[in-house]
Amino acid sequence: MQRSLISLAVMALLGLSAGAPTLVAAAPAAKVTQVTTQLPRTAVPTHYAVSLTPDAANSSFSASVTIALDVKQATSSLTLNAADLKFSAAAISAGPGKSQQASKTDIDADKQTVTFHFADTLKPGSYQLKLDYTGVIGTQASGLFSLDYDNGGAKKRALYTQFENSDARRMIPSWDEPFYKATFAVEATVPAGQMAVSNMPATSTTRLADGRELVRFATTPKMSTYLLFFGLGEFERATAMEQGVELGVITQKGSLGQAQFALDSSRNVLKEYNDYFGVKYPLPKLDNIAAPGRSQFFSAMENWGAIFTFENSILLDPRVATQSDKEGSFLVAAHEMAHQWFGDLVTMAWWDDLWLNEGFASWMESRTTTRLHPEWNWELRAVGTREGAMEQDALATTHPIVQRIATVEQASQAFDNITYSKGESVIRMLENYVGEEGWRAGVRSYIAKHAYGNTVSDDLWREVEKAAHKPVTAIAHDFTLQPGVPLIRVADAVCKNGKTTIQLTQGEFSKDKENKKPLSWRVPVIAQTIGGTTVRTVVSGGKASMTLPGCGVVLVNAGQSGYYRTLYTDKAFSALAKDFATIPTIDQLGLLSDSWALGMAGLMPASSFLDLANSAPVDAAPQVWQKIAGVLAGLHDSYEGKPEQRAALDRFARARLAPVFARIGWAAAKDEAAPVANLRDTLIRVLGEVGDESVIAEARRRYAASASDPSAMPAALRRPVLSVIAASADAATWDQMRAAAKAEQSNMIKAQMYDLLGSASDKAQAQRALDLALTDEPGATAGASIIGHVAGNHPDLAFDFAISHRDQIDKIVDGASRSRYFPGLGGRSADPAMIGKLQAYARQYLPADAQGDTKQAIAAIEYRIKVRTKRLPQIDAWLKQHAG
Ligand SMILES: [Zn+2]
Repeated sequence: MQRSLISLAVMALLGLSAGAPTLVAAAPAAKVTQVTTQLPRTAVPTHYAVSLTPDAANSSFSASVTIALDVKQATSSLTLNAADLKFSAAAISAGPGKSQQASKTDIDADKQTVTFHFADTLKPGSYQLKLDYTGVIGTQASGLFSLDYDNGGAKKRALYTQFENSDARRMIPSWDEPFYKATFAVEATVPAGQMAVSNMPATSTTRLADGRELVRFATTPKMSTYLLFFGLGEFERATAMEQGVELGVITQKGSLGQAQFALDSSRNVLKEYNDYFGVKYPLPKLDNIAAPGRSQFFSAMENWGAIFTFENSILLDPRVATQSDKEGSFLVAAHEMAHQWFGDLVTMAWWDDLWLNEGFASWMESRTTTRLHPEWNWELRAVGTREGAMEQDALATTHPIVQRIATVEQASQAFDNITYSKGESVIRMLENYVGEEGWRAGVRSYIAKHAYGNTVSDDLWREVEKAAHKPVTAIAHDFTLQPGVPLIRVADAVCKNGKTTIQLTQGEFSKDKENKKPLSWRVPVIAQTIGGTTVRTVVSGGKASMTLPGCGVVLVNAGQSGYYRTLYTDKAFSALAKDFATIPTIDQLGLLSDSWALGMAGLMPASSFLDLANSAPVDAAPQVWQKIAGVLAGLHDSYEGKPEQRAALDRFARARLAPVFARIGWAAAKDEAAPVANLRDTLIRVLGEVGDESVIAEARRRYAASASDPSAMPAALRRPVLSVIAASADAATWDQMRAAAKAEQSNMIKAQMYDLLGSASDKAQAQRALDLALTDEPGATAGASIIGHVAGNHPDLAFDFAISHRDQIDKIVDGASRSRYFPGLGGRSADPAMIGKLQAYARQYLPADAQGDTKQAIAAIEYRIKVRTKRLPQIDAWLKQHAG
């Protein structure tokens, strides 16, 4: 899964063996008795034959399923998962003439289970359980759901499914846990003229007497329930053959022209992965289904053979698509296709090891983007990814990468920065430690050995250690089984005979536990004197000494593959600041990030970052200036309510950023490097925010001119210019933008424009956006996003509004996001009162196992308040001293 930045007649049964591919038996990696379950282990499903009849107009469906299963222990009942399903018939058969109806059906809505009782005890053996039932089609992305959209003025409704982590049970009564792998044969009765899509290709389409069509799909390989997919609507599909696999992109009618880049990306990624994993993609086809709308929880999902992606994360509309949209479209393909192996072919046994899916897919996405689009310099993003992880990981509310998950609610909360970004960063460090070749060999044998099976993290370490002949498991355990961020202190360097010796000690970087006794890690460290050869060691037992060739300025974590923060002495840091321009770009980013975080935590002067920002040359890499601009924009926010200090910060920001913007200008130069486009976008927004008069005036000029001249706001400038306009919108401008949003024909652009209405700085306009969010006007999946945008500038206003409309909010936020949506709004606050509000919300509305996000939001607010009271005065003093 990629996170977001969101009843008719029962049909005849399918033959159980039709088209089932020959499958390799899985190695017995994770033992069944050790894997967490909410279901009794009395029976195991092997095949589901599902017959589905959706009634999109009435938001309901009828279905039947025949489940082939093996009873392991004699029992008089079977319990499986089901949610919001109504059963009309249940019978079990051990063969012809050996059938019995269920004597009683018990539904447990809280546990999301159904139990069928039988008068005659089921002895161990093979059975077929046949169930007839009906269910509901929701409006948010969980289970079988609908998305309504406009197509050329006509109202349309399409259906899709989203089952991760535990929502297959909303469409199919099933053993809905990743460990219970089975094969699936799906058929559906659908209106003629619509396209039905599932994991496997359709094998037949039959016209029925009533005009509808019966579509049968080939049987899937053995897989987990959460990877099943079904979609239905007025779609178009573009295809390309690559290495014997039919790759497809499916869109609503009329949008196929925006899918070419995604299709090309899929081809390149498939070639790369077939090679990397050493096991060929095993299904005959792989579609990526682009859907209108969005979710607060995710942007794409790796259903095997049928990836689902919200269209704003995959399609490129030439009217609005930017460089970063293009990068995003490629990343989705790289991430979700990595899951086809890591997740789909080999699946974690239980949600404890979710990071095996998500950390790995995130790492693979970055690796593949770096390789296939070297012009994007994606390798530099590794520092930002690590920052995202450390921000959460340095608070006491963090958790280890591998964590105990007991409930569905906890599994939903596990889709966080630790699982994704720390997972990715730790893999990057370990790959760097064992070497690229050894790592890949280990991954290959892991995939080959566990294909169609389930695993735990140690299954991966075992294979990598065997292949690479390096003791990676011990380091991996330190970083995945315990939480937190190591801190490496670098003691003053001593230079003798052309060699520099440094002393390293390991502590722990904590933002909110100042006197915490540090945990202990074995930390792989790479260091050099600037320009010299790199030297490696593993800091073990808390300290190490390193001897580096050369006598120059010392750089630790050279290349930034280490998951730790580096703390230099004042003298060593000053030397680095002085030589900042000579350091490799990735290490400039590492130094900026560490100095900012350590400064805010009180371990360095808070102004250290500004020293670096002051010595960054105007021609530094675009990514360096994006980082500086981002931090300055954050500081600008921190000065909320302090106009005098904010003005000083804004002056400094303009003085540093305006010359950078002057170099790159409003229009892209011929043959401009791709990252410059991203920097332009960032600088327009940030300079607008810190009050650069000429940028604001030019944005206004372009916005006004665009009414009659579309070229005034080309795709690359459209969103940054509109962001400047929206941020400063008065009532009249806000009305004008709303009218444009309402009139917009493209669903994707419409959603972007409604989001902009939520980003007004003016409180009165922000309130109008909140009121608008709960009306039918912006569309069913847009409201939650608008409120989220309001929270960017007005977290307290957005939170209070959402709480007072809680029932309505619950309808526009998908189930998996509910426990994190409210903390997500309030968590951006710096008002101490918000802590009490969040606590009250959690107490009243969240079960104990769903409060993780609330606790993290509270920790983030407390830290923000501490930073504002303790660190900002140091920044003020620095700004006064450096006022030019
Ligand atoms: Zn994922």
